[in-house]
Amino acid sequence: MLELKKINKSYKTGDFVQQALKDTSIEFRKNEFVAILGPSGSGKTTLLNILGGLDRYDSGDLIINNTSTKKFKAIDWDRYRNNCVGFIFQSYNLIPHISVIDNTMMGMTLSGVKEKTRRKKAEEALKKVGLLEHAHKKPNQLSGGQMQRVAIARALVNDPDIILADEPTGALDTKTSVQIMDLIKEISKDKLVIMVTHNPELAKEYASRIIEFKDGEKVSDSNPIKKSDKDDSKFKIRKTAMSFATALKLSLNNIKTKKGRTFLTAFASSIGIIGIGLVLSLSNGFNIEVEKFEKNSLAQAPIIISTQAMNMSEENLEKMMGSSENSKLEKYTDKKEVFVQEDVRESMMHTNILSQEYIDYIKGLDVKYLSGVAYQSATAINAINKSDNGYNLVSDSSSWMILPINPNEDDNGIIENNYDILVGEINDNEPGLILQVDSKNQVYESSMKALGLGGEEVSFDDIMNATLKVPINDEYYIDLGRAFVPSQDLESLYNSENSLTIRVQAIIRGKEDKELITNGSGIGYTNALTQLIVSNNKDSKIVNAQRDLDYNILSNQPFDDSPSSTNNKDMILSYLGSESIPNVIYLYPKDFESKDSISSYLDDYNIDRTPDESIQYTDMASMISSLSGNIMDAITIVLVAFSSISLVVSSIMIAIITYISVLERTKEIGILRALGARGKDVKRVFNAETFIIGIASGVLGISIAYLLTIPVNHILENLSGLENVAKLNIVHASILVFINIVLTIIGGAIPARMASKKDPVIALRTE
Ligand code: ADP
Ligand code: MG
Repeated sequence: MLELKKINKSYKTGDFVQQALKDTSIEFRKNEFVAILGPSGSGKTTLLNILGGLDRYDSGDLIINNTSTKKFKAIDWDRYRNNCVGFIFQSYNLIPHISVIDNTMMGMTLSGVKEKTRRKKAEEALKKVGLLEHAHKKPNQLSGGQMQRVAIARALVNDPDIILADEPTGALDTKTSVQIMDLIKEISKDKLVIMVTHNPELAKEYASRIIEFKDGEKVSDSNPIKKSDKDDSKFKIRKTAMSFATALKLSLNNIKTKKGRTFLTAFASSIGIIGIGLVLSLSNGFNIEVEKFEKNSLAQAPIIISTQAMNMSEENLEKMMGSSENSKLEKYTDKKEVFVQEDVRESMMHTNILSQEYIDYIKGLDVKYLSGVAYQSATAINAINKSDNGYNLVSDSSSWMILPINPNEDDNGIIENNYDILVGEINDNEPGLILQVDSKNQVYESSMKALGLGGEEVSFDDIMNATLKVPINDEYYIDLGRAFVPSQDLESLYNSENSLTIRVQAIIRGKEDKELITNGSGIGYTNALTQLIVSNNKDSKIVNAQRDLDYNILSNQPFDDSPSSTNNKDMILSYLGSESIPNVIYLYPKDFESKDSISSYLDDYNIDRTPDESIQYTDMASMISSLSGNIMDAITIVLVAFSSISLVVSSIMIAIITYISVLERTKEIGILRALGARGKDVKRVFNAETFIIGIASGVLGISIAYLLTIPVNHILENLSGLENVAKLNIVHASILVFINIVLTIIGGAIPARMASKKDPVIALRTE
């Protein structure tokens, strides 16, 4: 059943070879008490280690259950140690940071026995050695004799068939030694006990068989096995497997014994997380702020369709950034040649032809997306005012400003949403003027001049009473035959009964929270005014004459047909009031989602149209927001990259700490291996430790980052007035903790592997 056959074992230290066992052959009975005697260095411990499967023989064979162990794999040895063999060492070899009872049941814990069963068995074993009341003490709270009893209980608890004791009383006084020997004698009743001692008296008194060793050789055997008393009985070998939960518990206990160090490690390695957490919470918060801002204010900034548009296609933007061929050219070169560059600005300019067809297409846009539209017409508004210094003509188009109108009668329109009406009432169906003042009720001097008013301060009443007259073309333009010129007799034009009388309908001011799109001041006019001017003038003499002529009737100059010119027949006709096709259209989206619907409606128009026929629009809001979004993303990436360096540093630190822990716990590794732990199990114990540190540092980092957002928000609020900008997103937080765990496990993996590869015998010998 257990037999050594010509075992040889030698140790090499440098060039020196120490033969620890020479051709040793011994057969053991299933049930006997064998004492091994011999001087120090005679190979007794080596013999025990080989018998217990802790160490490997060089040659010969160890027969277990009539089977050669030559083909044993690591896992077979682990199983054999775990449930066939119980070790008792001279130096007790208890794990210091777990309780007596946990030490006792460690072997069962390693083999995956249920908690309840193993606790019951451990209590029985402790009772047997008389230590039940000490079950919850730590080993260092016991005397030497008591510790050895715990070791005996541990050896017994799994009910192994073989007990291997290496000088169990070597460190004890005589009285205690006797007690321990009595215990071992008791055990030996139904087991094979092999005990190393160099006390011949003890051996003679207790053992049933004494084998003496000298210089690695057996020199005597008091009771060798005769052929007749051989038996075929077998040891039982079961599977062993430690669960990750057990590994976690072991590591947790170990970590508890060094709380300070664990906390510092977790804190140090959480710094990366804190950094990334803060950066992400800030960028997250800023994005939310930007989005809010877009939704509140930018969303209502108009989409502008003008006769002159910039084509902001990606291709064009790339060209503008200088990714063209010429960007490779050397600066301040000595070359005697010049290089021709493509003019990007030229190709970016796009002329939109705002035909009636397009206007109709715009009118087809669902009004539910719009809070307002504004058409800027090319039709001139030639108004005349009467001031203290006579009559003045206000024809400069810069005097007039476009105000959006409400596309949907039932709805609170763009004006009501964005402006406060300070006085008066807006009626878009009546021709009239609307004065906009800025947030400080300021207007430009030119606006007052246009109304025929002057002075530093002008009362609302004076403004509301100002009267302007718009003459009809047939009175305003004088026919000179080849050309027409404007009349200089402003007084009679002002007093003509054909002239249209217009007044200021209302004074408005942009709402405080809509400052971005309603900023500024000026005089706007109602849509009805343009309509009325066109209907008065579309059949005027000058318009009819211009229709028949192929030169500019006002300047008596030929037209300019280049696309960016305003001196062409259509424009001049519009200017004179022949029709009211606008040259700029402003579409005010109702909200952020509507803006997308409007954009896609406008894009649809360009499907199946050539680039020249296409209509390009400008969406300032999305340009601003995509720009700000890109900048935020870039800043976030850079900051996260910086903070990530500290994450990497912390995982290196974890590797070092784990390495130190492996060194510190070498003895424990040896004990666990002696109790049947697989290399894998040892690796698990260390991985569990880094796992715990990973979670601890991740959670700590996130918590600190979260706490830091409070002062950060306070500072930001003082600086920018924005409340609660930094917001830690729960998804980001979880991902960060996860990444931290992965990184720490990677950091600890190499030392954990080292631990699992440690030779158990060497591990046990270390102090
Ligand atoms: P004992 O237990 O009888 O005192 P050991 O079995 O421990 O003796 O050692 C037998 C011999 O083998 C001794 O000379 C010892 O120095 C040597 N030896 C044991 N283990 C090692 C080792 N790991 N490396 C080198 N030499 C060793
Ligand atoms: Mg020894």
